[in-house]
Amino acid sequence: MNARLQEMSVKKNPDWEGLRKDFPILNQKVHGHPLVYLDNAATSQKPRVVLESLDHYYEKDNANVHRGIHELSNRSTVSFESARTRTAQFLGADSPEIVFTRGTTESINLVAQAWGAKHIRAGDTILLTEMEHHSNIVPWQMLAERVGAKIRWLPVTGDEGLLDLGRLDEFLTRDVKLFSFTHISNTLGTVNPAAELCERARKLGIVTLLDAAQSAGHCPLDVREIGCDFLAFSGHKICGPTGIGVLYGRQQLLEETPPWQGGGEMILNVGFDKTTYKKPPHRFEAGTPDISGAIVLKTALDYLDGIGRENIFQHDQELASHAYDGLAALGGIRIFGPKKGRAGLVSFLLNDVHAHDVVTFADQRGIALRGGHHCNQPLHKKLGIESSARASFYFYNTKAEVDRLIEVIRETQKFFGSPR
Ligand code: PLP
Repeated sequence: MNARLQEMSVKKNPDWEGLRKDFPILNQKVHGHPLVYLDNAATSQKPRVVLESLDHYYEKDNANVHRGIHELSNRSTVSFESARTRTAQFLGADSPEIVFTRGTTESINLVAQAWGAKHIRAGDTILLTEMEHHSNIVPWQMLAERVGAKIRWLPVTGDEGLLDLGRLDEFLTRDVKLFSFTHISNTLGTVNPAAELCERARKLGIVTLLDAAQSAGHCPLDVREIGCDFLAFSGHKICGPTGIGVLYGRQQLLEETPPWQGGGEMILNVGFDKTTYKKPPHRFEAGTPDISGAIVLKTALDYLDGIGRENIFQHDQELASHAYDGLAALGGIRIFGPKKGRAGLVSFLLNDVHAHDVVTFADQRGIALRGGHHCNQPLHKKLGIESSARASFYFYNTKAEVDRLIEVIRETQKFFGSPR
């Protein structure tokens, strides 16, 4: 089902407090204070159904996939492949277009090493943006170095954190072979206009990759509506386990992509002199895959769609804008990213207090934040800073938790005598 149709069958106003109870980990004290988990952009927590689904798999069905003829192997294979079908439906794609990987990082490396090495040549340009995560920078730098390609960076406007779309024509030029960009910035909270960017690129025959690490599971995603050629996301950021991720690739592109890793599962026939390969997606899944990860990911996707990604996006946005307003009202604070229309995270810096001190101070009061460059070193350099503190939200967070964050940041300012 198309992601939007799916959303329409989901009720408005979910019982957020009730959903929170699905997450056993949230019910604990840290350093004597109730845990306030605001590090969801790094990884999300897992609901009980997801934990149970993992137990169920290992208690009842565990066996290797695609190999055995016995009952357990059949069950495992059916569940693994139905996880693929479900993931395709989650993205509005077809099943053969879904490759299971270890996560966003591996998905992007796969495209860089397999598709990129075949299609990107010396003198070609790879277009990225200044707000990319290292996962969407380093694989392209490695490829560019290998083949002699250039990388160009679509600029970010500054603290407001928007892509400088007015300059797009300057950067989307005929020598660009691939445009890879993030859907939602993991530092700025900016939501990039993915469909518009893909359309502009497509008109010039430029292949697009959408890094959906921060958007999958936070808003509806439909690859046909967006019009991207590749899309990558990680299971662990959307209530699934670590170790499983997804690469969506438009079928024709996957068909023309050579294998990247060799081994079992991805072959049709191996001889002493020659090997032939399976079609996508299995061509890209050498060796035993993360079987339980894929199966449990399906449970996570069902769980999220039961809440409704439209609802989750709205809830994320409400929390982020409440946090933005509350933090801005404190004064003496620099907040990165757009004021309006931001996704569910806020990065900030207090005058004269190191981000690590802010995060440590908050941790002592039970609040889990992230401090550092968030794997966005070039962006931090562009902003003239080395690190920032980040609060990132998910649907199980509450306004009361955001209020607690603001109160603790106020205490931090007092403690460190931070000038306003
Ligand atoms: N891209 C973005 C925008 C991210 O925020 C992250 C993780 O924080 C990644 C890529 C990498 O994800 P993973 O480490 O799960 O591969």
